[in-house]
Amino acid sequence: MLKILKNILNLLLPPRCKLCGAIVEDDDTLCSDCYNKFDFITQPYCSHCGHPFDDVYQIGKNSSRMLCATCAKDKKPWFRLCRSAYKYQEESKNLILSFKFHDCTDDAKILAKWMFRAGDDIWNKGVDVIVPVPLHYSRLVKRKYNQAAMLAVELSKLTGIPVDLTHLIRHRKTRPQVEFSGHVRVKNVKGAFSIKSIKAFQGKRVLLVDDVLTTGSTLKECAKAIAKAKPKSIDLLTAARVC
Ligand SMILES: [Zn+2]
Ligand SMILES: [Zn+2]
Repeated sequence: MLKILKNILNLLLPPRCKLCGAIVEDDDTLCSDCYNKFDFITQPYCSHCGHPFDDVYQIGKNSSRMLCATCAKDKKPWFRLCRSAYKYQEESKNLILSFKFHDCTDDAKILAKWMFRAGDDIWNKGVDVIVPVPLHYSRLVKRKYNQAAMLAVELSKLTGIPVDLTHLIRHRKTRPQVEFSGHVRVKNVKGAFSIKSIKAFQGKRVLLVDDVLTTGSTLKECAKAIAKAKPKSIDLLTAARVC
């Protein structure tokens, strides 16, 4: 019965591609033309930070553990694993932008599906709690929703892992990171985050979620705040990354 109703509804209001509006078969999908505009990150990539390899990479004793030059040098990494679904590029920018600044909340479902796929290694290692990068209260009021939180909620639905939306907070208002580059980004978010409870993260495997990974300074500051609670591990998962 439900299926018949759904078929009738699909005839009257067919599902549409979230980017171009073309009719598609299922809800929360893109048409093949739009899908193909995304440059998904696939192997080979750094087994630690997930950075896709072009030419320069090192192969360790075990070839499944390839590390980029930065990770090979880093003796005390601040995260366990980092993964992203696709490369942030001119052609694929629209989805993230519409998601962020117009009320295209359904896009969270599409992006979360891709993130779920990209996070395979992270799920295999185990996660106890999913935590989105928080917005400052004043920006949340203005924008009405936090895109990272929506991704975290959708990922929680896909994995059954609980999401924590309350214990990591952005207590200091910061300028949007897109306005800056390099070290100014680091300075802009320095000390902007704190935790409201040690217990929420202590001994836990925490997954930090955001929409775009650019320099990583925002995620690093969030990780620093959570690290005070001595979690078991901190992983990072984003929809897109600037490569
Ligand atoms: Zn399309
Ligand atoms: Zn790396």
